[in-house]
Amino acid sequence: MERLDKLISSQRADGRKEVQKLIKSGAVLVNGKICKKPDTKVDPDKDEIVVDGQALNYSKYIYIMMNKPAGVVSATEDRQFKTVIDIIPEDMKRKGLFPVGRLDRDTEGLLLITDDGDFAHSITSPKKHVNKKYIAQLDGEITEDTVKSFSDGIEFSDGTKCRSAVLECDENDKKTGIVTICEGKYHQVKKMFLCCGLKVVHLQRISIGGLYLDSNLHIGECKLLTDLDKKSVF
Ligand code: URA
Repeated sequence: MERLDKLISSQRADGRKEVQKLIKSGAVLVNGKICKKPDTKVDPDKDEIVVDGQALNYSKYIYIMMNKPAGVVSATEDRQFKTVIDIIPEDMKRKGLFPVGRLDRDTEGLLLITDDGDFAHSITSPKKHVNKKYIAQLDGEITEDTVKSFSDGIEFSDGTKCRSAVLECDENDKKTGIVTICEGKYHQVKKMFLCCGLKVVHLQRISIGGLYLDSNLHIGECKLLTDLDKKSVF
């Protein structure tokens, strides 16, 4: 059993004080009856809680898929730019959310956002080698040499060595590459292409492990992951 105000607050972005005000105003129903006492003990699995007319679907953690737009930063706070947290719809927002890994400000596509540190760690840990797939638009054409260099493992000018990566491209469009990497070095895809004399002019992430960006999700939109989505990452 948990306090009503604590439980509701854990599922939202606003603090306990705001939630207490909300409860005292009569906006919260417990099992169909208005409950104005913030310290009422409730069971999130058994009691039906309605806040402002919306059923509270309690979950310990939340897992969000975002089709990240260009122009927002993969951070929780930024002085200059909007963050991915700023653009999450209100009904998915709660305290403690953070992006799982980073995409550059100008990179679009699949970004996971959660408040579950273990889940995030199992994706971003360098030991896990979770594959990430990107579509890169380039200022020049991919050659067989480019594909071989990616496969051999690119070495940056500072001596950093990348693991073997898969680079695929269509016979009819050699300025577009599909890259699969299993690490997350800073600006990795852009730097790998630069080492081969190619500049990335547009970058989109399309998958993390076996989880693909939902093609129905427009740029800037979010959806909640299903349990199956979550499992398909690993
Ligand atoms: N590689 C990059 O260069 N940028 C990204 O945002 C992700 C991977």
